[in-house]
Amino acid sequence: MDKNIINKQICIIGAGPGGITAAVELNKLGFDFVLIDGSTPGGKVNIAPRVDNYPGYKEIPGPDLAMVFYQRLLDNNISIFGENVISLKKKNNKFYVECEDTIFVCDVCLCASGTTEKKLNLENEDKLFGHGISYCALCDGHFFKGQDVAVIGGGNAALKESIYLADLVKILYVIHRRNEFRGSLKLVEELKQKDNVKILTPYIPIKIIGDETLKSLEILNKETNESLTLSIQGLFPLVGQNPNTSYIQIDNVLDSYKCIPVNKDMMSINCEGLFAVGDVLPRVIKQIYLSEFDAKQAVKGIVKYLKHA
Ligand SMILES: Cc1cc2nc3c(=O)[nH]c(=O)nc-3n(C[C@H](O)[C@H](O)[C@H](O)COP(=O)(O)OP(=O)(O)OC[C@H]3O[C@@H](n4cnc5c(N)ncnc54)[C@H](O)[C@@H]3O)c2cc1C
Repeated sequence: MDKNIINKQICIIGAGPGGITAAVELNKLGFDFVLIDGSTPGGKVNIAPRVDNYPGYKEIPGPDLAMVFYQRLLDNNISIFGENVISLKKKNNKFYVECEDTIFVCDVCLCASGTTEKKLNLENEDKLFGHGISYCALCDGHFFKGQDVAVIGGGNAALKESIYLADLVKILYVIHRRNEFRGSLKLVEELKQKDNVKILTPYIPIKIIGDETLKSLEILNKETNESLTLSIQGLFPLVGQNPNTSYIQIDNVLDSYKCIPVNKDMMSINCEGLFAVGDVLPRVIKQIYLSEFDAKQAVKGIVKYLKHA
């Protein structure tokens, strides 16, 4: 079946904080754009247990903040085109944004597609996903109430999800490959105060055990080379993210980490008319306010670009 072809001036890929901010700003300026996202509006904010560093709220559960973002779209009569982008190509100065049933043809494309959690790449990980293994404590933590659970990771996201999980589960093992955590000291201290948390460092996971459901996890001490088997019902690998950029089929847009390097207008350094914001950028710190800031910069960049195109 032939796909529908729709012409738009601008396509925004992703309705997280970056994409939503850009959409609201472009709407104010009267541009003809489409906001595309096949998943829940608000992006990753939906899986943040609590957001405590966002100006305007002392502390707010992620899903509630995601709802505030979504409400901004509703208030501005902006709808989301609810499909995923399969490919993005450029031909004769036009971008072709291919979704499941539709192809958008546009002058400017803004990638705000964020990241997806990295896997451990161990045997049984895929098989036991949804049967003891999850990459989102806020979404699935309640399944493990009163059970023994392990988190793997040492960044802020891992620490925050661990603090959230510790209040639900019986024992929480927090496993990290280094002796020092990458995340904030304040979060490490908060985690250490929980009676049911056992911090295991410097350990790496080496074997996931279970047939139909997760039974245990084997970990290896990197200093002593001794292994330890933890009997657990839940496992949350929280070891970083991969950028959601595999749909981009334009040469030299991605760096070696599959991120999109941009100039100060948020335009790709190697592709005119392609803009990028938020977690898809090659940046260590990934935060809501940064995605929003990028989006405002990108809108200025887009206005400038279209004026001279
Ligand atoms: C557990 C956790 C806790 C966090 N806590 C905080 C915090 O306290 N404070 C803070 O500032 N930040 C926090 N963050 C980080 C914050 O959520 C992100 O930095 C922010 O959401 C990034 O916004 P974004 O718009 O760049 O991308 P995202 O929020 O990831 O949004 C990207 C959107 O693009 C969509 N998408 C992806 N691929 C496609 C495709 N092919 N086609 C169409 N759509 C696509 C996705 O469905 C998603 O909706 C946390 C993150 C996690 C995981």
